Amino acid sequence: MRIVRSVADLRDFVGQARRAGCTVGLVPTMGALHAGHLSLIAASTERGHAHVTIVSSFVNPRQFGDAGDLAAYPATEAEDVEMAEDAGAQVLFVPAVDEVYPAGFATEVRVSGDLTSRLEGAHRGAEHFHGVTTVVTKLLSMVQPDVAFFGAKDAQQALVVQRLVTDLNLPVEICVRPTVREPDGLAMSSRNVRLSAEERARAAAIPAALSAAAAAAFSGERDVATIVAAATAKLAAAGLTPEYLTVVDPETLRDRTALDGRSLLAVAVPVGPVRLLDNLVLEPSVAPSAAHQTLAHGPIEEG
Ligand code: AMP
Repeated sequence: MRIVRSVADLRDFVGQARRAGCTVGLVPTMGALHAGHLSLIAASTERGHAHVTIVSSFVNPRQFGDAGDLAAYPATEAEDVEMAEDAGAQVLFVPAVDEVYPAGFATEVRVSGDLTSRLEGAHRGAEHFHGVTTVVTKLLSMVQPDVAFFGAKDAQQALVVQRLVTDLNLPVEICVRPTVREPDGLAMSSRNVRLSAEERARAAAIPAALSAAAAAAFSGERDVATIVAAATAKLAAAGLTPEYLTVVDPETLRDRTALDGRSLLAVAVPVGPVRLLDNLVLEPSVAPSAAHQTLAHGPIEEG
């Protein structure tokens, strides 16, 4: 596997791969790789021998509102190289900040409206998503992949990226893959390493809250306030208070008051020094065992 740090070298590699008749998959990450990232890499490598997989690792300063969170973001390049290579990637693209944003950089790509102003946008500021869409546009433009892989764990981000690609007619398929979880259900996240043992134990209440909501939905409950209360109670029992715990339309992110159709339960919870995100698609007709299955292995695949 090659470690590439410049856009010029990246373009050389992609040019050679294309001339050899290969298709190209991109897995954008912020590094500190874990099994969630590896599942995205696997989804790309599964596309066969005539397909190369490029993993980008870039902690994008433009999507961090909180300088402390940026400074504390884990950096594990040596381990990332090993993991990406073992997972079958051909390139790890690790650009420096000034390779991505050279002097004079003055362009921003924005998706406006509910998709970026609600949920994470309401709490972190819409600038967070403007940072995401700017860097994703740049990465898609640098690599020009046939397909790019994103995690359902960041459901809003995946929706925003899909909107960006549709609106700008970018010639790339966006593939959204299920959330990979720890044995106790906690969604894998690079930020989990910052939790103390006690905080890590309490964080298990987050998937328990999602399960409680799924069980309530399956038992026939349609009132969103009641479902949210069941989930909130699980968090409260672990001493956790969500920043938001909301049931929304999974396409528009507008609030739902009743579970009339497929809905997205999205949650952000501060635990110790970090904010943890999780979500679950609530399908009123899905039995609790299947809902737990969903929690153990991630929401139903979307792409
Ligand atoms: P990050 O490095 O956290 O920016 O994540 C890079 C990509 O991996 C994003 O598309 C995330 O949604 C995805 N991802 C992060 N955590 C998980 C997980 N637990 N399961 C699946 N995908 C994930």
